[in-house]
Amino acid sequence: MVIIMLGAQGTGKGTIAGMISKQTAWPQIATGDIFRKNISEKTELGVEAEKYTSKGELVPDEITVPMVVDRLNQEDAKDGAILDGFPRTTAQAEKLDEILVKLGKKVDLVINLSTPKEELIDRMLTRRVCTNQECKTTYNIKLNPPKVEGVCDKCGAALKQREDDSNPEAINKRLKIYEEQTSPLVEYYKQKGVLRTEVVSESVNRMGKDVAEDIIKDIKK
Ligand code: AMP
Repeated sequence: MVIIMLGAQGTGKGTIAGMISKQTAWPQIATGDIFRKNISEKTELGVEAEKYTSKGELVPDEITVPMVVDRLNQEDAKDGAILDGFPRTTAQAEKLDEILVKLGKKVDLVINLSTPKEELIDRMLTRRVCTNQECKTTYNIKLNPPKVEGVCDKCGAALKQREDDSNPEAINKRLKIYEEQTSPLVEYYKQKGVLRTEVVSESVNRMGKDVAEDIIKDIKK
């Protein structure tokens, strides 16, 4: 089963994808995480990608698309995958359809997360990530803090704020790009009949964990 996580930055795509991945054993393929790993390891791809990620801009398709193709071709993705952060434009969505046809697959479910903008900005500012690239657990110092401040509960590595989360200019640019380039995908996938929209907000007392639990129940039916 191929699942896509759609939604602005800070809606909880990564958290929900991680929970579904744990229950299904389908890998969570997060393009942002793959870029961050390459950036920290200073690979050729990382050096190139950082020119864009640090400013909150999209990394060009010539770099992003082959990286996703390569990941989808790996053995652990043969039964399913949860794409988190890809596609982000209509061009990427069309490319993905082509890639999946070649693999004899299709997009089965698109989970579209919707959260009020004020909550999104606050969640990005209060998000912390584990610096251990094998762990990458995400915390929120208000909603989901670690037991010991600045230390990952799971692996004990230091937590840090993502560079693009600490920079208000990059936050605003990312939200603008989402509105302009990614949100049209809601209609794209609605037309295909695979869209499932979920509101994630403190105002309705429904957080990522609640959404993930419902989706996992439905997948297992
Ligand atoms: P994320 O962790 O999903 O917020 O992604 C962090 C950054 O990685 C984004 O702001 C982009 O610079 C880059 N990125 C992630 N996914 C993509 C994508 N599908 N296309 C282009 N750039 C991406």
